[in-house]
Amino acid sequence: MGLGEMSIAKLLKFRCTGCGNCCKEPLLPLTDEDLGRLVSHTGTDPMQLVKFVSKDEIDMDHEPEGFASLRQGKRVMVLKHVLGRCIYLGPDDRCSVYEERPLGCRVFPLDPTFSRSGKLVRLQLIQATECPYELDGHNSLRTLASLNQSYDGAMLRYRTKIADWNRLQRRRKRQGQTAQSARAFLAFLGVVAPRKPAQASSARRRLPPFDPSTT
Ligand code: SF4
Ligand code: SF4
Repeated sequence: MGLGEMSIAKLLKFRCTGCGNCCKEPLLPLTDEDLGRLVSHTGTDPMQLVKFVSKDEIDMDHEPEGFASLRQGKRVMVLKHVLGRCIYLGPDDRCSVYEERPLGCRVFPLDPTFSRSGKLVRLQLIQATECPYELDGHNSLRTLASLNQSYDGAMLRYRTKIADWNRLQRRRKRQGQTAQSARAFLAFLGVVAPRKPAQASSARRRLPPFDPSTT
């Protein structure tokens, strides 16, 4: 729903009460940059941090460019949840990687639209969960614009990589090959090291040199 100037002014006073709901129910789509930052900070294997979900598990029908073609089908990369909670949500309902948290967590739940000239023309709340906020805070327009720009930029870069990946998978299909795994996708994004060559090729390297006298 669009909001008038008064509502924008009101919503700019949004204050998060820290209930933790947005770290429980909604799944958070990640970018490769988010994941890279979390991996550098925690030293955890990226495959332990993410889950690849289908369109039945996440409401992103209107964003087909967020889906990567993997061996198991089209999937969106999200931050893993355990027992209905983000893996980084502490027992005190606080984020344990707050300084390194994904950009999607930083922008939630404010969804601003800026004009070309940089004027805030619309401000909405993302309705992904019950959000018991207060309207006694202060959000500077400058911070909102800068965060929004960072988020849009990271998302655009990531989706360009997804498009490249999907093109690669379509080419494999035309050549009669199956789509690659989620791990190969992470390697393509540069978040994990590519797998070492298969054992068969190293076994081949260990064969004795050819001896014509034995033929
Ligand atoms: S990374 Fe932190 S802020 Fe983001 S969903 Fe998880 S616990 Fe919440
Ligand atoms: S649901 Fe709303 S109030 Fe609760 S932690 Fe998230 S942003 Fe804050």
